[in-house]
Amino acid sequence: MAPSHVLRCCQRGLAWIPVIFIALVVCWSYYAYVVELCIYTIPSTGEKIIYLVVFHLSFIMFVWSYWKTIFTRPANPSKEFCLPKAEKEQYEKEERPEAQQEILKRVASSLPLYTRTGAGAIRYCDRCQVIKPDRCHHCSACDMCVLKMDHHCPWVNNCVGFSNYKFFILFLAYSLIYCLFIAATVLQYFIKFWTLCRRKSAENCPKSDLPDSHAKFHVLFLFFVAAMFCISILSLFTYHLWLVGKNRSTIEAFRAPVFRNGPDKNGFSLGFTKNIAQVFGDQKKYWLLPVFTSQGDGLTFPTRLVASDPEQPTVVLHPDTQSKSAEDGSIQQSSPLSESQNRLLDNHVHTNEDQGNALKSDESETITISMESES
Ligand SMILES: [Zn+2]
Ligand SMILES: [Zn+2]
Repeated sequence: MAPSHVLRCCQRGLAWIPVIFIALVVCWSYYAYVVELCIYTIPSTGEKIIYLVVFHLSFIMFVWSYWKTIFTRPANPSKEFCLPKAEKEQYEKEERPEAQQEILKRVASSLPLYTRTGAGAIRYCDRCQVIKPDRCHHCSACDMCVLKMDHHCPWVNNCVGFSNYKFFILFLAYSLIYCLFIAATVLQYFIKFWTLCRRKSAENCPKSDLPDSHAKFHVLFLFFVAAMFCISILSLFTYHLWLVGKNRSTIEAFRAPVFRNGPDKNGFSLGFTKNIAQVFGDQKKYWLLPVFTSQGDGLTFPTRLVASDPEQPTVVLHPDTQSKSAEDGSIQQSSPLSESQNRLLDNHVHTNEDQGNALKSDESETITISMESES
C-alpha cells in the first residue's frame, strides 16, 4: 500500500475519535442516570417511572438525530455540473485563465447559477472538476464538493450541508433537551450528595437518608457534565436557529454570497416563515422528526434578488422541487431551466467578459470550520 494511502487511512481513523468520545460519554450518562440514579438512588417508585419514561424519550430522539447527522452522506453536485468531455479536454489543455473562464461560462450558460466568485468568475472546483452550484463549497476534510455546505463538524465526522442540516439542528435541540432534563432532575440529588460529602469530612456528622455508595460519584459527575454540555450547546443552537431564520449557512454568515449585483448576505432569504420551511419543510408534523423534509434539490435555491428582477419576471421560486433523493447522498436530476434563466445567465456572461482578470477558481472557497464551542 502506498504511504499516502496509509496516511489517509490513519487520518480517517483519527477523525472518528471525537464521535467515539461523545458516544462513550452518552453510554456512561445512560448507565449513570438509569442504574445509579433511578435504580439505586431514587427511593420513590412514581418518581422513578416518570424520570425513566421522559429520559428514554429524549434519549431516543437524541441518538436518532445524532445517528442521522453522522451517517447521512453529504449531497454532491449532479452530473450536469461536470464539464462535458470535449470542454473538459479543452479546459485542461488551455493554460490561460481567461480562456478557461470562457469555457466555463459557455457550459454554465445552461445551468441554473446565480452566484459567482468575488471577482465575478464562474465558481469551479479544480479538485472535483465540477462547476459549483449556488451555495455549494468544497470541503477539504471530506475532499468533495458539498451542496449548501454549512460547515465540517468534527463532532459528527461529517459535513453539515443540504442533506443533513435539518438533522443537525434537531441533534442540537435534542442534545440540549437531554442535558437539560438530566441536569434538572439530578440537581436535588446532587445537592444532597454534595452536602453529604461535606458533612462526611466533619466528625460526628448526622447521617444522610441517601445511600453512601459509588452512586455518589456518578450523580455528582452527571450534573457537572450535563450542565457543561448545556452551556456549550445552547450558544451553538441559538446561533443556528438565527441562521435558519435568515436562510444563511455558516459559510455565508462569514462571507456573503456574490450575486450579479455584488455580495448580498440576504440573497437567499425569503422571509422568516419560508426560510424555516426551506430547512424543515412545509408540513409541521415532520418538523421534530429526523426525516428528510427540506425543500428543493440542493442544486438551485430560490433567491429574492432574481424573483424581484423586473427584467426577469418569469424566473420564480422553486417551491415544488422537493426531492428526497438527497437523503441517500446523490442528487440525480437538476431542475430544468426556463428560457428566461438562460437569458439571465447569458446577460451575466457578457457583463463578466468585461472584467478581464477572471479567476481560475476561487481558492478561498475551500473551507473547514470546526466547532470549538461545542465542548
Ligand atoms: Zn470540490
Ligand atoms: Zn466535510
